[in-house]
Amino acid sequence: MPRHSKYPSIGPGSRFGKLTVIRKMRHTKNYNQRYLCRCDCGNEVSVSNSRLNSGQRKRCAIGMCRANRSGLFTGRNRPLYQRTYSSYSAMKSRCLNKTHTGYEYYGGRSVTISARWLEPAPQGFLNFLADMGLRPRDKTLDRKNPFGNYEPDNCQWATAKWQANNKRANYTPEEIVTNFEQGVPSLQNPELETAAF
Ligand SMILES: [Zn+2]
Repeated sequence: MPRHSKYPSIGPGSRFGKLTVIRKMRHTKNYNQRYLCRCDCGNEVSVSNSRLNSGQRKRCAIGMCRANRSGLFTGRNRPLYQRTYSSYSAMKSRCLNKTHTGYEYYGGRSVTISARWLEPAPQGFLNFLADMGLRPRDKTLDRKNPFGNYEPDNCQWATAKWQANNKRANYTPEEIVTNFEQGVPSLQNPELETAAF
């Protein structure tokens, strides 16, 4: 005799918190059918009937949803966001903290930061995370146009090797701007970027 769930079957489009049911997953046990759900943040996750109906799962628990739920820098989230947060924090220091060693090349040259990224904590960091994604292990924060500001459109995660290659290219400021306008990938000015972390 198959066991039957104490919960009713769930139809496509049903909402549980931030999760919208897309369809039943195949090959799951009758008594705890799993459903493919799309979270409002865009991630798709498979969640069991019992966890949906009991209210145990209301969001995907990935990335931003996980961060919002349980605090960014506590417990198991700490290693997940630490690298990205150190980039965010260093960017702010370079531009805003007059005692920072890199300030003269950043804040001192009127390099600014997107207003979205300067909203009061933790929203500023959450916006940065939403725009930039998690920082990959081998990459640092890079401005595509090194004379531009820290804005979503002008920032990317780039490898140190790639940045070093561009430093060796020794482009003049005019060439860098021309390359930027023509869509050539980021070209670093060594003088500007020595303070990168
Ligand atoms: Zn989510």
